[in-house]
Amino acid sequence: MPENIYTIHTSTLFDPQRKNFFKNVSIVIDPQAGVIVDAYQREAQLCKLGATDVDLRGKVVMPGFVDAHTHIFLHSYNERPAAEQMRDESIVERVVRATNHVRTALLAGYTTYRDLGSEAMQSFDVNLRDSINRGLIPGPRLFVATHPLGSTGGFEVRTENFHGGVRAPPASDPGDGPEGVRQAVRRRVAEGADVIKFYADYRRKIMRFPPKQQHPYKLRVQFPPADPNPHVPLFSQEEMNMIVQEAKLAELPVAAHAGGFKAAMMAVKAGVTSLEHGFETTDELFDEMKQRGCIFVPTLAAAEMFNKDGIKGILAQTKRAHELGVRLAAGGDTGVFSHGQGAREMELMVEAGIPLNDVLTACTIGGWESCGGDLCGFKFGWFGKDNRADIIALDSDPREDKTALRRISFVMKDGRVWKNDGIAVDMIQNHHAWDC
Ligand SMILES: [Zn+2]
Repeated sequence: MPENIYTIHTSTLFDPQRKNFFKNVSIVIDPQAGVIVDAYQREAQLCKLGATDVDLRGKVVMPGFVDAHTHIFLHSYNERPAAEQMRDESIVERVVRATNHVRTALLAGYTTYRDLGSEAMQSFDVNLRDSINRGLIPGPRLFVATHPLGSTGGFEVRTENFHGGVRAPPASDPGDGPEGVRQAVRRRVAEGADVIKFYADYRRKIMRFPPKQQHPYKLRVQFPPADPNPHVPLFSQEEMNMIVQEAKLAELPVAAHAGGFKAAMMAVKAGVTSLEHGFETTDELFDEMKQRGCIFVPTLAAAEMFNKDGIKGILAQTKRAHELGVRLAAGGDTGVFSHGQGAREMELMVEAGIPLNDVLTACTIGGWESCGGDLCGFKFGWFGKDNRADIIALDSDPREDKTALRRISFVMKDGRVWKNDGIAVDMIQNHHAWDC
């Protein structure tokens, strides 16, 4: 037996593997390795606790949340539009903000973030990930994309002013043609990416009829067409196929951004791991996704913010995906709205009519699958032996209380406690445990 092992005792526990709640489960933790040693159902109510045991009876215990779509370097667009954040904020400010964001996320119960694009911050997401992994700052386990892939001019900050060849920091790694995108994937792998993200489509014709809400610092034009800047594909089918093929060679998952139907179908046919957003879907697309095991990350929380009028339709599509058997992961596009509010994604899935137990599974096992499953090098999102010891406790029961997913009173990641009785555990208190 390893040293210092201890047991967490629970009275109500959600097990995503069995998609159900169970009574009187105890979990044995090895804090040295940061893993779960065992999880078992007790015969009866426990009467005696060991000196180092943790008593979470009276709370609802589950694996730590996984946010499958985040941007650590973004803060809420209600505070400042994305284009201005990328164009105007200093690298230092953005890193300081991200340091706060990841701490906030961890304390809200998010023990893993799949961070899909550094938003004009080069590969600094890799460095922030490593700073967390080295124990310098608290935060979720990060799986990062570095720059997303776009074709030439597909995803970047654009202004009408042009200084010495530079408009704004680059927001993507452009590649064209199968050879070009193959090289772009290889550059991402070399920079330290955990996941390859590409823009299957984007509203890339922004310079034609600059729409006010998408381009905050430009004057709008008079008499724009009804849809001044629609989603149009960035890559050909051949290019998308190559992105997936090359990522597979590197054993990395692929996330595809698709706002429109056309590019979504192309990306799914190319064999991507997950489809992000998918605001225009059909049964045909969902059937194709189900058949190929493609995960749907509908980013409802961001959709609600951008498209108050359209959110009902988007919720209905998500419900339909679930009915047709498409696998779901919960990723809000967090950063577009405030970090720490990620639970909104799960609340909206519930509002869409998806059963709570399936939503909790999407935010745990679904998240692990979207990180590549076994390809990511770890197991988390359920209570298996040798899984990472990522465990949270809610103060109330989500089956009765709609706000329960925001009421996180206990957070453990890798066997270390970061929040207890609703109070954050200081970095210093945890520091003695680091071996670096
Ligand atoms: Zn995003």
